[in-house]
Amino acid sequence: MTKIDLSGRVAVVTGASRGIGFAIARRLLAAGATVIVNSRRIDADVVAELLAVAPDRVHLEPGDIADPDGARQLVRAVFSRHKRLDILVNNAGIMRAAVIGMISDDDLRATLDLNLASPIHLIQAAARLMARTGGSIVNVASVVGLEGASGQLAYAASKAGVGGMTRAAAKELAPKGVRVNAVAPGYIETDMTENLGEAVRAQSLESIGLGRAGLPDDVADAVLFLSSDMARYITGQVLRVDGGMVI
Ligand code: NAP
Repeated sequence: MTKIDLSGRVAVVTGASRGIGFAIARRLLAAGATVIVNSRRIDADVVAELLAVAPDRVHLEPGDIADPDGARQLVRAVFSRHKRLDILVNNAGIMRAAVIGMISDDDLRATLDLNLASPIHLIQAAARLMARTGGSIVNVASVVGLEGASGQLAYAASKAGVGGMTRAAAKELAPKGVRVNAVAPGYIETDMTENLGEAVRAQSLESIGLGRAGLPDDVADAVLFLSSDMARYITGQVLRVDGGMVI
């Protein structure tokens, strides 16, 4: 079996303190990459778990990337420390469910700032660095952005935007050797889905062909593949990681 080897590569994973982002950071570390771990807060037990995988390749860059300056600062920190960036995983996201009439301006703004604008700011900054060496960007979208879901208008709009952004960036950056793809997870067991409650969980499970909820590692393996040279001829794609979900 060909093993994915990311030795010598430098990767940024946003929202890596828990859930899908944490699983992605762990996978990239295990494959040999140096991983810059971002989220607003990074607890000591998370750091300890990542250091156990690779004591000398974990770098912490806590910060709020919904703030454009925070996003730019993250890439600036990578440049000053590593002088290169090979992999960017735009994973950080929020979901605030509300029926259409109850969506507050604050929730709409927060959703668009983090889910839609922050990956654009990070792609802008990262593309400059990656243009030197080539690279791979993987955005985390959602099946909700492809199919829609009741009570998730703002979130669905933001994640549909991630699909458009992925295709546009892929076209513009391909001549520079930078690939841009996305994964669209279905129902994955994390804090985000736990907050949706038991009724949503039961309904989601019924719609999943493979008969179980997804795990963060199910998504992380797809991201690992798209980040790596195994996917060297793939760009502009949105890969569903949903266990055969029908919504
Ligand atoms: P999660 O468990 O809620 O984790 C979200 C991560 O994002 C945390 O590390 C959080 O840490 C970080 N984050 C939140 N706001 C941030 C900010 N302003 N700046 C930097 N980091 C921030 O979510 P998840 O379920 O793992 O979801 C990860 C991604 O997958 C999201 O984009 C989500 O939309 C997408 N997704 C999830 C599912 C699912 O079923 N779980 C399905 C489809 C798509 P802090 O709060 O400390 O900042």
